[in-house]
Amino acid sequence: MGSRDLESTGKMVFNIAKADDGVAARLGSLKLAKSAPLETPNFIDITSRGAIPHLTTDVMTKHTQVRGAYMAIEDFVEKYVKRPAPAIFAASEGGRSRLHSYTGLPSEIITIMGARRYPAVVAPMGNGAKHLSILTSTGFQSLEIERYCDNILSLRPDIVIPLADLTFDKGTRSNKRLRRMLERTDEWVEAFFKTLDPDTELTPLGIHVFAPTLPIEYPLQWEYLNRLSEDHAHKLSGLVVYDADTLADLEAHSPLVSLPRLSMDSPSSPHEILRQIQLGIDIFAIPFMNGVSDEGIALTFQFPAPPRIGPDNLPLGINLWSKEHQISVTPLADGCSCYACTKHHRAFICHLLDAREMLSWTLLQIHNHHVLTEFFKGIRSAIGDGTFDQKVEDFARVYDPELLHSTGERPRTRGYHFKSEASQPKANVAPWRAYEDSNGDDPTLAKEVAGLVVTGGPEVDAESPLIPGASATELDRNGFAEKSF
Ligand SMILES: [Zn+2]
Repeated sequence: MGSRDLESTGKMVFNIAKADDGVAARLGSLKLAKSAPLETPNFIDITSRGAIPHLTTDVMTKHTQVRGAYMAIEDFVEKYVKRPAPAIFAASEGGRSRLHSYTGLPSEIITIMGARRYPAVVAPMGNGAKHLSILTSTGFQSLEIERYCDNILSLRPDIVIPLADLTFDKGTRSNKRLRRMLERTDEWVEAFFKTLDPDTELTPLGIHVFAPTLPIEYPLQWEYLNRLSEDHAHKLSGLVVYDADTLADLEAHSPLVSLPRLSMDSPSSPHEILRQIQLGIDIFAIPFMNGVSDEGIALTFQFPAPPRIGPDNLPLGINLWSKEHQISVTPLADGCSCYACTKHHRAFICHLLDAREMLSWTLLQIHNHHVLTEFFKGIRSAIGDGTFDQKVEDFARVYDPELLHSTGERPRTRGYHFKSEASQPKANVAPWRAYEDSNGDDPTLAKEVAGLVVTGGPEVDAESPLIPGASATELDRNGFAEKSF
C-alpha cells in the first residue's frame, strides 16, 4: 500500500520483512500515514503525566530519536471539586489530536494510550465487573468502559489499548482469579468494540487498536485468543503482550500472527529484551530506561557486544554517583556520539548530580536514550544478516547479567505513583525531620518550625496557632483563605 493510500484510509500497516517459521525474532516496519516507518524491533518511551521524564520537547527533538510515547489515562483524569472536568479535555486541538496538543508532543511521535501507568501501582480495591480501578493524582477512581471510550474519542491517541482486567501484584494468582481476568477482559474487549466501531469511528480519527493478550497459560487463554482471532482480528492493528512466554501460543491463531506485538512485560535488562525479541516481540516499552536515568546510571552496553577482554564481564552501565568518576574527563561511554558524550564528561555530570542539578538527569536521559536507540539498530542489523542468535550468545558472555542500581538520590521518588513496597527503605533521605527530635528544649521554637505558631512576642501574646478551623472538605470547597459565608 502506497503512502497516498495510507493517508486516505488512515490505516496502520505492519510489514514483516523477515521472520523464520515458529517462534523467532522478526524484522518489520510499522507504517502510519503521519510519520516515517518505525523499523522493528524498536522501543517507545514511557511518559509520566504526559512527559518523557527529563526531556523538554525541543531537547527531545534535537538530541534523541523518540518515536513513540506510552501514556496512561489515569495520569490525566484527576478530579477536583472546583473543576468541572480535567484540564486536558478543555485543551484545543489546534489541528492535531488533543493528546498531542495538550502534551506538546510533535505530531509524528506515535502516542499509545492505556488505562494504567506503566509500571502501575496496585489498586487496593481491585477491579469491578464493569470497571477498572485507576490511581489518579487525586486518588483512586473507577474507570468504566464507556468513559474510557469517550476519553479516547476526545484525546485521539494513535494507538489505544482496550481495558483488560490485569492486576499488578507480584504474587501468584489463583485459578479462580485467572478465570475472572479472562472473562472480564473478554467482555470488556467485546464492549469496547460495541461502543467504538474501528471502521466508522476510530480509523477515520487515526486511532488504531492494540488488543491485550493476557499473562496466563494457553489452556485458559485459548478461547479468548480464538475470539480475538475470529471475531476481532480485522479490527486490530496490533497486540499487547504482558507475558512474552505466551507468544508461542499465538502461532495457532494465524490472523493474529502478522500483527505487531508491543511488549509490556517489563524487561529488567538488555538480556531480557534480547530474549523477548527471540520470542517474537516487535516493539518495547522499557521502564528501566527512565529508572536508570533517575538513579544516575549511564548505560554502556552495545549490540553486538565488543570482543571480551580479560576475565571480567563488562558492566551494563556506570554509576555516576560513584566517587571514581568525579575527576574523570572521559565521555559516559567510549565512542558514544550522543549530545551528552560529545559536549560533556563524567566529572561534570557527577558535579551536577552532587548539586541535584536537573541538567544531570537530562544529560543522562539523552545518553541512555541514545544507547538504546543504537542497541536496537544493532539488533535489526543482526536479524537482517542472520547473525542475531549468535550475537545474543556473545552479548550474554561479555556483559554482566543484571543492570546495576545506585543508592544515589533520585529526582522523581515522591508523588502518588511511587509507592514503596513493604519494608523497602526510602530511596531519598528526608531533608527535614521534627525539630524536637534534635533539640527538645524549646517547644515553642519547635512548633514554629512545624508551622503551628508565630512567635516573636511573649508567649501570652502569641497569635493563635495557624490551624484551619474548617474541615478538609470545606477547605477543599472554599479554599484556605476565602470566606466560607
Ligand atoms: Zn552518550
